Amino acid sequence: MLDAGAVGGQAGSSSLIRNYLGFPRGLGGGELAQRAYQQAWLFGTRFRLTQRVVALEPLAAGIAVRSADGVAVTARAVVLALGVEYRRLDAPGLAELEGAGVFYGASMSEAQALAGEPVFVVGGGNSAGQAALHLARYARQVTILVRRSSLAATMSRYLIDAIEGTPNVEVRPGTEVAAATGDGSLEQLELRDANGGTEPVGAAALVILIGARPRTEWLPEEILRDDWGYLLTGAEVLADERSRDRWRLERPPLPLETSVPGVFAAGDVRARAVKRVAGAVGDGAMALTDVHAFLSLEPAVGWPA
Ligand SMILES: Cc1cc2nc3c(=O)[nH]c(=O)nc-3n(C[C@H](O)[C@H](O)[C@H](O)COP(=O)(O)OP(=O)(O)OC[C@H]3O[C@@H](n4cnc5c(N)ncnc54)[C@H](O)[C@@H]3O)c2cc1C
Repeated sequence: MLDAGAVGGQAGSSSLIRNYLGFPRGLGGGELAQRAYQQAWLFGTRFRLTQRVVALEPLAAGIAVRSADGVAVTARAVVLALGVEYRRLDAPGLAELEGAGVFYGASMSEAQALAGEPVFVVGGGNSAGQAALHLARYARQVTILVRRSSLAATMSRYLIDAIEGTPNVEVRPGTEVAAATGDGSLEQLELRDANGGTEPVGAAALVILIGARPRTEWLPEEILRDDWGYLLTGAEVLADERSRDRWRLERPPLPLETSVPGVFAAGDVRARAVKRVAGAVGDGAMALTDVHAFLSLEPAVGWPA
């Protein structure tokens, strides 16, 4: 297991994960990461941390995985669990309250707990619009904060119409979050308008959706991605016309196999992933099942020439 950072990925940066099976009161992301690390170690995983992988290279029968400091390991199969990077909002108090009222990446499991509460969404894209409409089914009031003067340039018309038709969703253009405060969980936001004026507002939750991107730029072009850089797997590979000349095996790709045999994708980096801890863990289990199938199906196949 090679990771550019420490163990834990995004989940490790969450102060409280509320929707992972088996932890009814939630669990700190750091603790989940530590437990997972120990468990994987006991099952025989060896970790190389702070090793950013910069290249995958074909070998006669396998793949070389090269990290930034020049170290290469060779493998018959590789699982890419590269995640995504959420753009962070920088304002005093936000980092301390992450997971305790302040959420990145639409932790929609929180929605029901927000019944009757005021909720704020930051972002002007479709994911922010969808989150606001979902939250509005539970929250008393949902306020979408956007820095631009309107949503028109960044959100699909159908979502703008739906927002306009939902009485408890309000859009505040030209507004940003200046600070967040709360004793253990978010209680108040300070909003700043385009003229620099500030206003304190009560808030039970702040959902920040200002963009996420997969970290896949460095991968070889043979590994097909969608328009946003997410990795195609399984049936999506064959459905993509670019793979017509590329997929050379008789069998179709395994469910989590990318367009390169023996290279698999799991978690948030996969196109249409659910972007949840449980989803990433499930993908991990499935990817490993695929790896076993690959090793029995293709005892000798290498990267297609
Ligand atoms: C603040 C926050 C709170 C969240 N809260 C929840 C929650 O409450 N419930 C929930 O279900 N989900 C939550 N999520 C989402 C959840 O954490 C992710 O869905 C999950 O972590 C995805 O796991 P992953 O393994 O696919 O990717 P990641 O967790 O993103 O891990 C990817 C790993 O790959 C490494 N990496 C990337 N590129 C390279 C490279 N080139 N070389 C080496 N290593 C590399 C990164 O360092 C990282 O450790 C939250 C996310 C955030 C950011």
